[in-house]
Amino acid sequence: MNFLSRKQSKNTNWFEQPQRVLIVDDEPRMRSSLKQLLEGKMLEILECETGTDAIKILGNGDIDLALLDINLPDISGLDVLDWITQIRLQTSVLMVSAVDSIEYAINAMRKGAVDFVRKPDELGQIQHKVENALYRRCLEQSHTQITSHLEHSERLHRFLVENSPDLIYTLDNDGCFVFVNSRIESLLGFSRNELIGVHYSSIIHEEDRELTQLAFNECRTENISNTSEVRLKHKISGCSNRSEEHYIVAMLCSIGIFNESTKDENLVSQLFSGIYCVARDITDRKLSEDIITFQALHDQLTMLPNRRLYYDHLELAMANSKRQGCFVGVMFIDLDRFKLVNDTYGHSQGDELLKSVAQRLRQCVRSGDTLARQGGDEFTIVLPGLLQTEDAAIVANKILDNFKLPFFVAGQEFRATASIGIAIFPRDGDSADMLMKSADIAMYKVKASGKNGFQYFATEMNSCYHERISLENELRQAIQNSELELYYQPKINIQENCIVGMEALLRWNHPVHGLLNPGGFLDIAEETGLVSAITDWVLEEACNRLLRWHRLGVNASISINISPKEFDRENLVELIINSVMKRNISPELLEIEITENMMLSDVSGILSKLRRLREYGIRISIDDFGTGYSSLNYLRQFPIDCIKIDQSFVRDLIPDIEVSPIIHAIIGIARGFGMHVVAEGVETAYQLEILSEIGCYEMQGYFFSRPVPTIDAEKMLGITPTPVVHIGKTALKSNDSRVSYDNLRACI
Ligand code: C2E
Ligand code: MG
Ligand code: MG
Repeated sequence: MNFLSRKQSKNTNWFEQPQRVLIVDDEPRMRSSLKQLLEGKMLEILECETGTDAIKILGNGDIDLALLDINLPDISGLDVLDWITQIRLQTSVLMVSAVDSIEYAINAMRKGAVDFVRKPDELGQIQHKVENALYRRCLEQSHTQITSHLEHSERLHRFLVENSPDLIYTLDNDGCFVFVNSRIESLLGFSRNELIGVHYSSIIHEEDRELTQLAFNECRTENISNTSEVRLKHKISGCSNRSEEHYIVAMLCSIGIFNESTKDENLVSQLFSGIYCVARDITDRKLSEDIITFQALHDQLTMLPNRRLYYDHLELAMANSKRQGCFVGVMFIDLDRFKLVNDTYGHSQGDELLKSVAQRLRQCVRSGDTLARQGGDEFTIVLPGLLQTEDAAIVANKILDNFKLPFFVAGQEFRATASIGIAIFPRDGDSADMLMKSADIAMYKVKASGKNGFQYFATEMNSCYHERISLENELRQAIQNSELELYYQPKINIQENCIVGMEALLRWNHPVHGLLNPGGFLDIAEETGLVSAITDWVLEEACNRLLRWHRLGVNASISINISPKEFDRENLVELIINSVMKRNISPELLEIEITENMMLSDVSGILSKLRRLREYGIRISIDDFGTGYSSLNYLRQFPIDCIKIDQSFVRDLIPDIEVSPIIHAIIGIARGFGMHVVAEGVETAYQLEILSEIGCYEMQGYFFSRPVPTIDAEKMLGITPTPVVHIGKTALKSNDSRVSYDNLRACI
């Protein structure tokens, strides 16, 4: 039933909806006259003549008003009234009786009747009294409904407040707690009673108190909600030290409570009586935001500022320097040989080294400096507020000194060095980009002049830098322009007096710089990935040469050098095997030279690639042996045919100086594993003699021949009309497909 829809009417109808009225009277004439009196009033009238019938009808619960006679043939109308009260029926009762006694009327009213009408005298009032009774009933029902609504709403809000994940409280107009929900206990560790009457600032972080005071004042003057982010203090029992205090970050939403003051009739003013507050714990969200911000500005491996943050700091330092008239140092640090660590020990070890390097670098800078990682093995430092440019050198020296202590890679000591370029603001550039570029150029200059050092940028360096950039671009064109060429250097067996094979060594006929050795461009090729195209070209070229020699009946082998990086290529093995297979040349004639460091990286992957090559018949040799990190265990596992003693050991073979035990060891190891051993870089007869004395019979070096163009190499192999090879000052003739070595003894 809708209270609002039921309104009193002064016209025809009293109520918008029909009301059900039951007339209980044993006299039919009385019933019909009552009915007549009430006709046309939007009433649905029912009638009965006994108390028992009345109870039956009323029992359905849908009668709004009963007009009850007291004297009924069976039970008294008062008994019916008793019954109605007893079962708490919502029907209103109007007693209509001929009984004249006032006691009866009082009794009936006591029992719950809303009114009493004496018949027949007062029947004229019946319309009015029925209308009143029904209206009153309607009001009572509405009241009951509103009360129930309020109770429901109160329960709902109490439930929501008490079970809210947020802290909800009210403050009085002085800012003291009046109400706090139970969340306070789990959120801040206070009991509610502890806070009631206490000023709110006692739970606010000292630094946020001013902000909350402002918010409180705003709530006092403006009737709009106020939102702020504050730190709320957690109660840690027994915590006396401020540094141990624990806070949560909360989003605080507050609004003023205003009561209407009606003292002055014309002016209804608003009286501030406190504030409602909701505080949501956003500590986790803040933490995630902080982490996201940190991640956006820091390198994830070393936790150092990244490029973006570095640039911000650099620009700030430049702005400050302009005001203060001091210098800013910009340092570009690149680790030397870092690629080797990645290639040999794998990326995870490389990462570990970078972390240790970051740690060491941190020790070398002041708190106001910014050390950042640019990516890869490149680190940068901003040195703000330098009074003199030379101060940057102090930091650089500190770094170089610090790096003298060994690092640890894969559990072994590792000597890392760094090349450092320094640019100075404002001297070497007026923008962050320019300064970084200048420091980078200076760093490259250090690399080019032997690494492990530092240099300040100088304008002349620009040309060097541009040279390198243009070299990179030219190298991209070199293959298409047929500027690459293979030179060959013979490998000689001095016991059998013959050339047993040729090592193919790459050359670049640069249109401007002339003939370049790989040392001048291989680094760039590896850095830029151009090395793959170079490997493909070398392989095709060498296999074509082998095919030609095979057709001419010359069975000299060709060895090609393959960069360790190339072994990351999925299809390298297929590429090599296909190259040999499609020309139908004997696979033993192709030899692959790899460096020993390669055996350490991704051992199982490399091992399977080498085994597949070896199974097909291609020979494998280890170049520059003795300079790297190979272990005897790897030598045992790897399918290796030949070890090439690095030229640095051969160079040390000088008269009157004892032969390095390393050479003895290498020869012993090779013998032990049943491998060939070749000495590289043999330049003197003395070296030849000693090597053959200690059991190394295959050699390569300027003493026999420098690397020569194809035509000359073919001459040595007797392919062209004058098969002559120059060994030192002596010319030797070739014999069949192998170069004869008869007069070699004479030249010793
Ligand atoms: P490597 O494989 O150890 O080659 C031997 C290097 O020593 C060659 O330098 C050679 O010219 C030089 N050499 C030979 N005999 C003597 C000697 O008696 N005394 C001295 N001082 N040096 C001698 P090169 O041609 O400049 O090659 C340097 C390195 O470049 C090679 O070292 C090899 O690792 C790499 N390389 C050469 N060609 C290729 C190639 O096609 N691909 C790849 N990836 N690397 C190559
Ligand atoms: Mg080689
Ligand atoms: Mg070598």
